[in-house]
Amino acid sequence: MNSEERMLHEECGVFGIYGSQDAANICYYGLHALQHRGQEGCGIVSANEGTLKYVKGAGLVNTVFNEEKLSSLKGDIAVGQVLYTNAGGGELTENIQPIVFHHRTGDFAISYNGKLVNADRLRKYLEDKGSLFLTSSDCELLANLIKKDAAQAHIDRIHSIIEALNMVEGAFAFLIMTGKRIYACRDKHGLKPLSLGKLKDGSWVVASESCAFEVIGAEFVRDVEPGEIISIDHHGIRSNHFSSFKHRNMCSMEYIYFARPDSDVDGCNVHAFRKESGKLLFKEAPADADIVIGVPDSSLSAAIGYAEASGIPYEMGLVKSKYIARTFIQPSQSMREKGVRMKLSAVRSIVGGKRVVMVDDSIVRGTTSKRIVRLLKEAGASEVHVRIASPAMTHPCYYGVDTSTYEELISAQKSVEEVREYIEADSLSFLSTESLMKSGDRCEMCMACFDGKYPTDLYLTNEDATLYKRYKIKAK
Ligand code: SF4
Repeated sequence: MNSEERMLHEECGVFGIYGSQDAANICYYGLHALQHRGQEGCGIVSANEGTLKYVKGAGLVNTVFNEEKLSSLKGDIAVGQVLYTNAGGGELTENIQPIVFHHRTGDFAISYNGKLVNADRLRKYLEDKGSLFLTSSDCELLANLIKKDAAQAHIDRIHSIIEALNMVEGAFAFLIMTGKRIYACRDKHGLKPLSLGKLKDGSWVVASESCAFEVIGAEFVRDVEPGEIISIDHHGIRSNHFSSFKHRNMCSMEYIYFARPDSDVDGCNVHAFRKESGKLLFKEAPADADIVIGVPDSSLSAAIGYAEASGIPYEMGLVKSKYIARTFIQPSQSMREKGVRMKLSAVRSIVGGKRVVMVDDSIVRGTTSKRIVRLLKEAGASEVHVRIASPAMTHPCYYGVDTSTYEELISAQKSVEEVREYIEADSLSFLSTESLMKSGDRCEMCMACFDGKYPTDLYLTNEDATLYKRYKIKAK
C-alpha cells in the first residue's frame, strides 16, 4: 500500500452482532478484522437485559481490550467501531464510538462510518429548537434528530430513525443499538459499504467489510441496500427503506485503497477489482521494463494485474516492515517522513540494474512517491516507471475521507508531466476514469476526487464553492 504521509486517511469500521451469548467477544474479533479502517480508537457496547454497557479507548483493538474488559460486556447484542479521528471531525476522545445516549424512552448507542455534509445546517436547526451539543460528532447530531420529537411518545423508534435519516445528507453507514435491537442503515447514495452476515448458530452480524465475517466463521448474506434500514431483533431481520432515491455510488477509494483485498464490496471482490485495474493500466500505459513491482500492500493486486497483462515478471522489489504503524497516523510531517523510510525498503538484489515498473494505488501529495522512487534508484534501479492504478486526484473528499485540500493535492496543482518531474520518475501514467469503472464492471461509482462529480449536494461555504469552481475548470 502506498504508505502515506499522503494525507489519505482511513474511514472508520463498524461491526454489530445480535443473538449470541458471546456477542462482545465476537465483536472484538470483528473489529480486529476491520482494524485497517481506523487505528486511533475503538469501542464496544453490549446490551444485557436492556442495559447498555461500554468499553472504549484510544489505540488498537488489542490494546484497548483485554479478557477482563471483554468479560464485563455481557449480553447477546453488541456493536463496535474502529475509529480514524478526522473522519467524524473533532477531537479523538469525543469521537471514540459507539456513543451511548441516555433518554427516558430508552438508552441507545450509535456506531458510525461516514460524514454528513449538511451537519452544520442541521446543528443550527436543532440548536434553534433548544438542543445542546457536547461534541462535534455526527453521531450526536443523529441522536438529537432521532429524539427531536420524543414528546410524541406514540411514534415508533423506526419512524423517528426514518425521519432523521431523511434529513441528513452525505455518506454513512450507521449502527443504532437499543437494549433489544440493532438498526443497520446505509446512505441512499450507496457511498459507504455495509454488509449483513449470519453465524451458524443463527446470530446476525453486520460489518463495514465482509472480511470481518470470514474471521468469525459467519457467512455473507447480502449488502445492506442504499437507503435501507435493517432491523435485527428476536423476529429476525426486517427491512425498511427510508428513501426511494437509490444509487450505487460506492466510494471508488474503497476498491483502490481502503478495503481489504479479501473483502467483497457491493458485490465486487477488492483483489479482483485491483488486479483488473492493473491489467487495464498496462493496456493504457505500457512500459518497456524488466520487472513490475507494487508498493505494499494495497498496490500489490494491481501490480500482479499489470505484470500478468504485460508478461513482465512480477517481483518483490519493496518490502514493508510489519511492525510500524501506518505512516499517516504519525501526527507531524517530520515524523511521517521518517516513517516512510523506516517502513519501506527497496530490495537491492532485485531492483539493482533493472528497469522497474512501480505500480502504486494513488498519488496524493507526491512526497511519498518521490521518496519511493529515490529509494529504488538508490538501490540501483536504472529506470523507474510509475504507473498509478487510479486517475489523478484533483478534488478533495467531503464524505469523511481525509484526502487533503486542493492546495495539497499535487494533481490539482500540476500537470502529469510536472508531477513526473517532481517525483523524479522516468515516466508516469494514471489510469483513466473509464478504466476504473470497467475494473469492477460497475455502472455507478463515486469518483468525485478524480472528476469532481460529487453524488450529493455539498452545502459548501462560499469560500469552498469558489475553490470548487476554480479547480473544476482547471481539471477540465
Ligand atoms: S470523493 Fe473520493 S474518497 Fe470521497 S467518497 Fe468519492 S471516491 Fe471516495
